[in-house]
Amino acid sequence: MLALILAVAAGVCLGLGWLLGQVVLVYVALGLSVVGFVLVLGQALRRRKSARAAKAADAEAEIEDGDGTDAEQPDDAAAEDGEVVFVVPGRMRFHVAGCRLLEGKNAEQLTLEEAEDEAFTACTVCASHEAAELAVG
Ligand SMILES: [Zn+2]
Repeated sequence: MLALILAVAAGVCLGLGWLLGQVVLVYVALGLSVVGFVLVLGQALRRRKSARAAKAADAEAEIEDGDGTDAEQPDDAAAEDGEVVFVVPGRMRFHVAGCRLLEGKNAEQLTLEEAEDEAFTACTVCASHEAAELAVG
């Protein structure tokens, strides 16, 4: 709303400046539009940030809940960053990088959290591959 008022004010100043030959008013108009632009940009960023913060808070809560399982999860640090998985459009499985089922496919990258939110399930091929890797070390 404030941005709209600023835009209107900027337009009026620009028009008056033009009509009256007052360069100062043109500068004022420019200033107002810059302020308006920054406000709109700031609002958009804040909205995005708060959405992200809400997500991060969720993730943190989950990590805190699972505190006791730290010893069983050597990859805890990676999970905190948001583990990345891959999905193939049209398939309801997600894969870890390098899974052979991704070869030659147009895979999309998601975080593990997003994949689980969208009801993807773990691919059995790379899930067992990962388990084997963990067992070997
Ligand atoms: Zn896979």
